[in-house]
Amino acid sequence: MCWKDSSHALIPRAVRLLVELAFDLRVLGDYLVYRCGLAGSFANSPFPRAFHAVMVVSGTIGLLLALPGIAVFASWLLIHWNLPVVPAVVLGVAAMVGTFYALRRFRRAWMCVNCHQVGSAGRLTGRCIVFYLFFGDNWRVMDQHHAGKALRAACDWLESEGERHSVAVDLVTWPETWCELGCRSLPTRSSVNMFGWHTRQMLSYQCHDAVSHIEELRSELQTEISARLAERGETPASICLVINLPYRDMGLALPVANDLGEDRHLEICLCGWPPSPVVYAHELLHLFGAPDLYLSSHWILTEEGDGDVNVRLREWRELEAGRSEVRAHFGHSVMGSRHAHLETACVDPITARSIGWRDADSTYIEAVVTAERVAERVLAGVANEPDEPDDVSVPTPRTSEKRPRRRRPPPPVQGGEDVADD
Ligand SMILES: [Zn+2]
Repeated sequence: MCWKDSSHALIPRAVRLLVELAFDLRVLGDYLVYRCGLAGSFANSPFPRAFHAVMVVSGTIGLLLALPGIAVFASWLLIHWNLPVVPAVVLGVAAMVGTFYALRRFRRAWMCVNCHQVGSAGRLTGRCIVFYLFFGDNWRVMDQHHAGKALRAACDWLESEGERHSVAVDLVTWPETWCELGCRSLPTRSSVNMFGWHTRQMLSYQCHDAVSHIEELRSELQTEISARLAERGETPASICLVINLPYRDMGLALPVANDLGEDRHLEICLCGWPPSPVVYAHELLHLFGAPDLYLSSHWILTEEGDGDVNVRLREWRELEAGRSEVRAHFGHSVMGSRHAHLETACVDPITARSIGWRDADSTYIEAVVTAERVAERVLAGVANEPDEPDDVSVPTPRTSEKRPRRRRPPPPVQGGEDVADD
């Protein structure tokens, strides 16, 4: 769900129409870029973003004038065709309202289109080779075996969900000696506050060294994988690389074209310890464009809360309330909630649409409308939350010196959310 795209809930209703029109136009712009095959091309360039903003503002003003213009023009045309004035005006206004709702439906059908079916792993269908490797020095053979089994369980589940959606998916993780790329060392991690105010920052810090290192190795890994594919004469529909990291309860996707605007063609996700089929499935789906459907803490927690216990209590209360609301509607999705087992999860309509398993049918539109309403309720709840804290328990920030002792596989540090497509 694009929570950031629902921030208009905080804006007074009078201005909301304008903001929604701007959002409708932004989706229209994204759609045109997507259709031109340029999705993801401008991710790292500030100029197109500024240009995009100017286009959206001017387009919104134009649309505000154009919508009444449609009513006036349609009424004039009907009167010109000898229709009485009153029915002509009614039909003219109906044409304006119809255009407005058509635009709204278009937005719902194509929101986040710049993440749909782009990149080397565009659509989760056909034969996909899943390579994997281990980063860190303490992976025992049995740990690697455990991770391989969990990854296979995730692939089996994705295949069965594909079958449920009448899509043929073949995720290949065998033979092990071919799909497994072995172990690599990790650079020493920086000493940082692991329990900071911002989950995104926290995870960025936690994984920062590993991610930088992996980005440096991306070309080398791509060459190695290309050689392995050539060795067996494989030309699969898509290729993914799963990197196992020794960090507890984390997952992070690095989809090249969707988020990073990279030219290179290796889709990588990072999964932590202990190996979990749920995390593997969730991160693999990100590589094919699936968005998160949970409320990430970095939409609620602020830096202010890190230094003020009352603010922190209030923010955590808001976060818990928001998460309950979101979980009530999207908790069944593998992208929406932390499931203990894949048996309790499913690929929901929003995820299915983003990975190319279904069109923007009525079920999908219904799910998007639900997402919009939930986002509005959650964000409005945050805006109206009183300042007085109540009795809730919240994590206390700690310093990196208080991190738990390293164990094998090392080390369990707090984490829990991923930051894949925010
Ligand atoms: Zn995620």
